Amino acid sequence: MLIRAGLEGISLTHAGAFWRKAAGRGLIFTLHHVRPAAPQLTQANMLLTVTPAFLEQAIQTCLKAGLTPLALRDLPERLSDTRDRHTYVCFTLDDGYRDNERFAAPVFQKYAVPYTIFVTAGFVERTRSMWWETLEALLARERAVDFDFGDGLQRFRVDTAARKSFVFDRFAEFIEQSDEDEAVARIDAYARKCGLDPLSLVDDLTLDANDLARLVRDPLAQIGAHSMTHVNLKRVDDDRLKQEIAGSADAVERYIGVRPSTFAYPYGFASAVGAREIRAAEDAGFSLAVTNKPGMLQADCLNQPTNLNRVSLNGTYQRKRYVEALLTGIPFKLREAGGANLL
Ligand SMILES: [Zn+2]
Repeated sequence: MLIRAGLEGISLTHAGAFWRKAAGRGLIFTLHHVRPAAPQLTQANMLLTVTPAFLEQAIQTCLKAGLTPLALRDLPERLSDTRDRHTYVCFTLDDGYRDNERFAAPVFQKYAVPYTIFVTAGFVERTRSMWWETLEALLARERAVDFDFGDGLQRFRVDTAARKSFVFDRFAEFIEQSDEDEAVARIDAYARKCGLDPLSLVDDLTLDANDLARLVRDPLAQIGAHSMTHVNLKRVDDDRLKQEIAGSADAVERYIGVRPSTFAYPYGFASAVGAREIRAAEDAGFSLAVTNKPGMLQADCLNQPTNLNRVSLNGTYQRKRYVEALLTGIPFKLREAGGANLL
């Protein structure tokens, strides 16, 4: 409600010159699923899904606001040009969903807007499950879940939307607090027991290497790296960190024949990306890397090009006026100032 009230109160017309600086040099949007509205999704996964119509509205709003669409990989060159006065918008899509090609690519093509899809090698190669998708599928079909989170076997009823979201959040907490590989393996094992194959689900949902090779024939499409297994990088040791980052660059190069220059940190929030990870992405040779720490591209963002902010196009707020509010940069300024926390 607070987010809604805050974003409703801000629009470009009310922004004024005082706030114009907040908009910086533009912004990078994060998307995940782009697909027609699904009626039954847990709260957490609803956030990660927007409709093709809303994507189109967001693009129109950006163009109307005077932002220039740009491929993410071209950002360093443009922003380092001191004569350049443009403000830019880059569209990025994480995790490599099939719906990106089916529903988002035609919208990007209609407006000639470049886009970057960040892919995780373990998903492309069907060797790693997506725990949030496994849970979504499991919760959609079960009426109760039996699981041991560490205090013995417990039974959770999941027969209403609210109960499904509650149990989803309990599993997300379990992932965050356990060894992530082990937690994912436990969820996989439980899903299999219920007759659900987590890797078939990855195959249903995400693009494989052949799909990516086809997709990049579209000059608007770029592929970036998004780790090997989508673990929280802050929680792995130095060797694994290096392997997750550099290994995923090698993998993308194998899929499309071109080494990616861009990387997106899995999860991307502050508890998943720190100074060590930012340095590791730079050491692996990426010219830029994106987080999901919310904010605009400020004039000095190239001082740390492997620590760029992104703004999530949130499935819960699929309204033009929210996009207009985000483009002002004001919600992020207010947040920095410790005032109303709108995001
Ligand atoms: Zn991701």
